[in-house]
Amino acid sequence: MSTTTHDVVDPATEQVLTTVDLAGVDETDAAVARAVDVGPAWRAVSPADRGMLLRRFADVVEDHREELARLEVANAGHTIGNARWEAGNVVDVLRYYAAAPERLFGRQIPVAGGVDITFKEPIGVVGVIVPWNFPMPIMGWGMAPALAAGNTVVLKPAELTPLTAMRIGELALEAGIPEGVLTVLPGAGPVVGERFVTHPDVGKVCFTGSSAVGQGIMRGAAEHLKRVTLELGGKSANIVFADADLDAAAASAPMSFLDNAGQDCCARTRILVERSVHDAFLERFESAVRRVVVGDPGDEATQMGPLVSSRQREVVRGYVDGGDGHDAADVAFRGSAPDGAGWWYPPTVVLPGSTADRIWREEVFGPVVAVLPFEDEAQAVAMANDTAYGLAGSIWTRDVGRALRVARGVQAGNLSVNSHSAVRYATPFGGFKRSGLGRELGPDALDAFTEEKNVFLATED
Ligand code: NAD
Repeated sequence: MSTTTHDVVDPATEQVLTTVDLAGVDETDAAVARAVDVGPAWRAVSPADRGMLLRRFADVVEDHREELARLEVANAGHTIGNARWEAGNVVDVLRYYAAAPERLFGRQIPVAGGVDITFKEPIGVVGVIVPWNFPMPIMGWGMAPALAAGNTVVLKPAELTPLTAMRIGELALEAGIPEGVLTVLPGAGPVVGERFVTHPDVGKVCFTGSSAVGQGIMRGAAEHLKRVTLELGGKSANIVFADADLDAAAASAPMSFLDNAGQDCCARTRILVERSVHDAFLERFESAVRRVVVGDPGDEATQMGPLVSSRQREVVRGYVDGGDGHDAADVAFRGSAPDGAGWWYPPTVVLPGSTADRIWREEVFGPVVAVLPFEDEAQAVAMANDTAYGLAGSIWTRDVGRALRVARGVQAGNLSVNSHSAVRYATPFGGFKRSGLGRELGPDALDAFTEEKNVFLATED
């Protein structure tokens, strides 16, 4: 039985939306036991039928896209435009992996004395742990390939943002996904999430969240040699060379750091500008930042909503205002933010004294970006790589050779040239260094949800 509840709050109004029961260890164990029980039947569903069920699941989510988007606006403060994209991403990812059950090819390997073949088999029960910043997409990235590969899934949304995951769990049943194949279990990280890590029947944990919690998960997983995928934090570079289309770079830069109110692991929160165009870029960037529409996330014109919680706003404020032995950051300019109820924070551009500054090095997870000049290509790459993280980054230049050279030189999993696009469901996504372990999305994500079994069949005495 649940012993605790959690008030789910609208970050734009601070009003309680609903109260959710949080699962305890017993309920987690029961959900895992059910996932184990239904595993053989789910594996026995023919590949064509499993694909058909995932397509039907996608169709039902699509039919509820507006409802899910509105729910996310209320629960997470996401702008309605983003929330529609996020619900649509669940549809896309389910459709993409719906093709997989019929394409989980093994291999035939030439060997002496017989025939050698491999099979891609499901791991068993997969525990998916989702953060609050992108509740729907990250749910989809874990559950879709896991289910397609024949695993059963127990999924824990973040305490702050459980509502869309709970609704998608209901839609799965409506679509005909058998009960127990996907269980959505709202609960506290150190209770439900940690139980996924310690439970001997959970074969894999797929975690997205902070680097600190991710490290703890990996330590715990080592105890059982449990498979893990970790998608963690970032401090990505946006490198603007003097030969770039400065108007395009400056127009793109605001959304590259403040989309989702900066609560984005791929946010380009360090802008590196070649010194000769530093001032020209900053001038264009300032007018673009000042034009960003911050306010009611349900309004179609809004580009940035509130932060997810008052706690998150305090964290962001702390980075900018200093305190606790830290200096305040040097704020160059700010955008706007509404007054009154809601956890608003204005888009904020800071000029650090050097690359040693805390605001240049640590993930703020709010609409705050730091800008520094660089002298040449080698210094730009060195500065971009001078971080513990390695998730994403952008390179702005008209020189194709330089674009590829710098892209090869930057130690990060997802780079874009003349763009801040980070995520496409058909391409691999994940981090170098402390940004994570493993890749999600794309065809190869299926390998992370399967075991390859080798079978040798003797044909000679
Ligand atoms: P968090 O690590 O606090 O929480 C993430 C999830 O883990 C939540 O569901 C939480 O309940 C759970 N959790 C917390 N403690 C746990 C424990 N001891 N054992 C198991 N589970 C536990 O992170 P957050 O504050 O919710 O999310 C923000 C962070 O996530 C940022 O650092 C951001 O960069 C990162 N993030 C990374 C990606 C990516 O793909 N790389 C995507 C989104 C967010």
